[in-house]
Formats: sequence, structure tokens, C-alpha cells
Amino acid sequence: MLVFLALVTVALASAPPSGEHFEGHKVLRVNVEDENHLDLIRELASNNQIDFWKPDAVTQIRPRSTVDFCIKAEDSVTVEDLLDQHELQYEVLISNLRNVMEAQFDSRSRAAGHSYTKYNDWETIEAWTQQIADENPGLVSRSIIGTTFEGRNMYLLKVGKANPNKPAIFIDCGFHAREWISPAFCQWFVREAVRTYGQEIHMTELLNELDFYILPVVNVDGYVYTWTKNRMWRKTRSTQAGTSCVGTDPNRNFAAGWCETGASTSPCADTYCGPAPESEKETKALANFIRSHLSTIKAYLTIHSYSQMLLYPYSYSYKLPANNVELNSLAKAAVRELNSLHGTQYTYGPGATTIYPAAGGSDDWAYDQGIKYAFTFELRDKGRYGFLLPESQIRATCEETMLAVKHVASYVLEHLY
Ligand SMILES: [Zn+2]
Repeated sequence: MLVFLALVTVALASAPPSGEHFEGHKVLRVNVEDENHLDLIRELASNNQIDFWKPDAVTQIRPRSTVDFCIKAEDSVTVEDLLDQHELQYEVLISNLRNVMEAQFDSRSRAAGHSYTKYNDWETIEAWTQQIADENPGLVSRSIIGTTFEGRNMYLLKVGKANPNKPAIFIDCGFHAREWISPAFCQWFVREAVRTYGQEIHMTELLNELDFYILPVVNVDGYVYTWTKNRMWRKTRSTQAGTSCVGTDPNRNFAAGWCETGASTSPCADTYCGPAPESEKETKALANFIRSHLSTIKAYLTIHSYSQMLLYPYSYSYKLPANNVELNSLAKAAVRELNSLHGTQYTYGPGATTIYPAAGGSDDWAYDQGIKYAFTFELRDKGRYGFLLPESQIRATCEETMLAVKHVASYVLEHLY
């Protein structure tokens, strides 16, 4: 026991410095039954500083749903009193955010440097991209598809056995800075690919027949910011004239019904769609890469958290994609695979009805570019830890997600177009 405690102490000591300490911040889950409740939440949001966790913004809340949001310690009495007065039912998901924030570093791994079962900072991920390419020259190559607002490189790993004119699957992670489990999955995917190639028949076939483009972190500046200043940061770190507010929501910044619904025109909002489609260097670089590889990219997968959902187009509209029936049965089968390992429950369906309408997302955009298989994964969990999923769940989360991704990849390989 003493040994264990000592390890925990070391793990906490190695936690990143954080500008905001989140002492006493609470995360509440409120049942929103009707329009009156919705009005009350709007009022709360306008008078208090509320960080919406799910959905992403007050405008996306629907009656007969739940909303998860984070409030500061000094607002919690006011907010909880108001909820009680109006008889809104709620539960406290997290009673002190700081504790959960520290508890995310619960990995038993003592390894210094890169680890697949720990959250890695950007410097470590950057070095890893080089190392995994150097160590697997026949299978992995690294390129730079652009630079971020703050001038960091955006690395892309191409994973597959070298062969000309192969179809490809594009996977990105780390759109939203605080969704740390997402970059962890992209790293895991590459490791599993190189580890099991030539050993496991399924992965060997996939890498012989397909290329995977893996973008481990899209929003690098935001990710760095979550490690150094504010763990709960979501957006990019771009600035613009006329406002002191920073950042655009990269997943509201694509030219797919841009800013028509579920996005904000206010630069201070967490779902700010930006001054124009592809205004962000990060989304522009991603879109440019996909546009220039449209003849080979057959599927687009984008990894977010949290909610445990597998979503497909559309989110910017309630219209259904042309191959809705096919996407629905593919999602169903992928979710069944995912569930088979640890019993993790996922829901699936078109974004607009399954989670909420939101325009400017990369999956809708990719689909409208002609990529027939476009999915958004919302990884673990369902709100117990939210964005602060403990490191001890990285392995299980990545293992189960691999099954779903491999299923989609095999399906795409059998249904080339
Ligand atoms: Zn996200």
C-alpha cells in the first residue's frame, strides 16, 4: 500500500502545470424537460460563467434531454439554488473538478517519455511521429501538411505497405483541444498497425491493400494550451482584430452549411465558427490535403470525445445522406464490434438527430466532397469523467475503438468506388 501511495504521489507531481486550478468547480447534469427549463438554463448561462460540456453550447440544448456543464466554485450555490427553486432535476457529475483533473494521471506506467497508456504532451507526440517513422521505414512515413496559427508543424503519418495507387482512409484526432483521449487513439492506431502487421491477418491485409493517413493532432496550439494554461480549452488559438477573445471552433469552420446552425458568430463563444470557412490555418491545411487526395481517400474518420456515439452525416441539416441505409448498417455493425470487447454501449445515427444539429463539421464537409464513408467517433465516456477520462481507461478505450475502425476499413476495402 505504501508503495502504491508513493507511486500516486509521483504521478501527481508529474502532472502538468495548469494556469487555472479548477478548485471547487462542479460539473452538473441537468434534466431539461421543457421550454421553461430551457429558458432558465439560458438565463443561468447569461448571468454566470458556464462551460458547456454536452452539448457544446446553450443553443444546442433540446427539451427532454440532459445538459452537462461546468460551473465555477463561486457560482455553484447560486446556480444550484436556482435549479432547486425551479424544480429542475440534476445530478452532480463532478463535485470538485480539480480532484478529477489530478486523477486523470492514474496510469501505473512509470515510463518517462512517450507512452501509449498515458497522455503525452505535444513535444512528446512530435518526437514520437519522427521515431515511429524512423523505426518502420517500410510502413510509416511522415510529412508536414501545414503549420498552425502559432507556427507549429502539423504532422501526418502515412501508414501502409508501399504500393502505387492504393485507396486510402483518412483519420484525424485532436480537433478539440480538451478531448485528450482522441490523440491517444491516433497514436494507439499507428502502434497497433506496425505491431500487428505481418502477425495478424486482418491488419496485414488492410495495410497491404490500403493506406491510412493519420493526423495525430489537428489543433496543436489548443492541445499545447490545455497542457500549459487551461485544461478545459476547446478551440484553436487564433486571434483577430476587433476582439480580445481567442480561438475558433475548428469543427464549425468547414464549408458545410457553415455557421447556419449549432454554431456561434460570437468570437468569445466556444462554438465560434470563425470569420469565414477555413479561416483557421489548421482546418485549411486539412481541407487542402483531402482535396488534393480525393481520388484515393475512400473514408474519413474523425475522433472526438465524449458521449460514446458513432455519427455520420448530416449534422448541418436534418436531410439524410444518399447512402443513409448503408451508413446506418455499417455504423450498427461497427458499434457491435466495439461493444464485443468490453461491453461499452454506443449509440449511432445521423449527427443532427443523434447528438444535435451543428454546421461546419469536417465529417459533413468530407462527405459532400464525395467521400461516401464519413464518420465521427465520440469516444468514452458518457459523462462520469467527461473530458478528463483517466489514463487507466486509455488501453480499453483504444482497444475497443480499434475493432470498430478495423471493421469500417474492411468494409470500405470490400466496397471500393
Ligand atoms: Zn470534439
